Amino acid sequence: MEPLGRNHASACPRCCDLPRDPENPAAYAYLLGLYLGDGCISSARRGVYFLRIACADAWPGLIDACADAVQIIRPGNKVFRVQRQGCQYVTCHSKHWPCFFPQHGPGKKHERKIALEAWQQKIVDDYPWEFVRGLIHSDGCRITNWTTRRVNGELRRYEYPRYFFTNLSADIMGLFTTALDLVGVEWRMANSRNLSVARRASVALMDAHVGPKY
Ligand SMILES: [Zn+2]
Repeated sequence: MEPLGRNHASACPRCCDLPRDPENPAAYAYLLGLYLGDGCISSARRGVYFLRIACADAWPGLIDACADAVQIIRPGNKVFRVQRQGCQYVTCHSKHWPCFFPQHGPGKKHERKIALEAWQQKIVDDYPWEFVRGLIHSDGCRITNWTTRRVNGELRRYEYPRYFFTNLSADIMGLFTTALDLVGVEWRMANSRNLSVARRASVALMDAHVGPKY
């Protein structure tokens, strides 16, 4: 237990005597998706951790969305952007990242068990689209395949938008498919690490709630 600091807003709702849920569960569900996709927590110095989420330069809007979500979850801590080749790391130091993401542990995520705690599962169940969006924004994409067909002698182009999601962790894949089932999106596994959403109604649902990267 840590005593409440002067800045009440930066106190940790998980290990201080504050309401048990993070202050903004929708932002949390999104950030959880980003963390499970492209995030890691490391020890900076004794008792202080930093969260680092890798965001591709190609999607500046997603870098902003990531930084905003981190700031909402830790309003009293500064959010940094560190430029690397082809990507920016959105980072933020806090003692409390392991409180927010108890999945933190040694080794790669796909080499260890990843299970949500009950309070996290409740947030994901309450905000499944935020969670799905976070996972697509980190490890997914929307792609338009196209083909041509001859109709009445005329060559026409037909487009087939699809969503793909790639993750090496069967546990994270399971969390993703559970959330997709909850929101009524049909999916199929192309193989053990690649999922696709291709049915028209499901792609339309994903377009309404997630959309292309930006
Ligand atoms: Zn804490």
